[in-house]
Amino acid sequence: MKSLFLANISHELKTPIHAILSYAELGFSKATLANPQKLQEYFQIIDTSGKRLLNLLENLLDLAKLESGKMRYLFEPNCLKETLQYVTGELSLILEKKNIQIKIENSNERWQAEFDFERIQQVIRNILSNALKFIPDNTVIEITKTEREFIPLKTKKYVKGIGIQIRDFGPGILPEDLDKIFEKFIQSKQVKAGTKGTGLGLSISREIVNDHHGLLYADNHEDGGAIFTLLLPVKQGEFV
Ligand code: ADP
Repeated sequence: MKSLFLANISHELKTPIHAILSYAELGFSKATLANPQKLQEYFQIIDTSGKRLLNLLENLLDLAKLESGKMRYLFEPNCLKETLQYVTGELSLILEKKNIQIKIENSNERWQAEFDFERIQQVIRNILSNALKFIPDNTVIEITKTEREFIPLKTKKYVKGIGIQIRDFGPGILPEDLDKIFEKFIQSKQVKAGTKGTGLGLSISREIVNDHHGLLYADNHEDGGAIFTLLLPVKQGEFV
């Protein structure tokens, strides 16, 4: 497992570094001759590859913290709906560009649970950014509240839970990949984020949710499209 992980990381690190070095070299040797458009193209590739590298490193640092149990959480009463609204606000530019509408179930009460605002934001951001990578333009993402009792992984008794279901109208996920996509570096055969993703986002998200004693899983809707369910215990008190 470990050597496979290292082989994957080296590959993921090498690809953008090679791109940065070769386009920097190309730009350097042609700086005085090439037309400005070509040079712009080179800088663009260097920029994208640099961002990809940074994203990968941030993901790896998160994973290291999660796996060594060093991730610190601030469990506080927060509202899942407000957290959703915060993340959709951040994504507004890309939503506008792709003309994608996010419909959040209408309700006046707070969708309250005790969770770490920043970390659950990260989970929701990951699920929504994934959807945005795979769904066609001019479609909708529907988000509904779900409330039910469930048994967290580490306990044997039911707790009260509250959560959200995020449904898109994209290609969906192959049934055999529904659980695999939560493994490190795994991208579904059906849709690959390719260079736009690292294959680490969902495994990080699941670790964060597990640390909250919650559940995170994927399904397909019977009429097509993927549904991601995030379920959190309303209270953390019983786990401390
Ligand atoms: P990546 O960085 O590749 O997006 P993730 O761990 O976040 O890594 O996702 C893993 C894979 O899960 C994606 O590459 C894709 O194959 C699949 N996936 C995630 N979300 C969706 C979705 N909404 N629809 C279809 N496939 C998805």
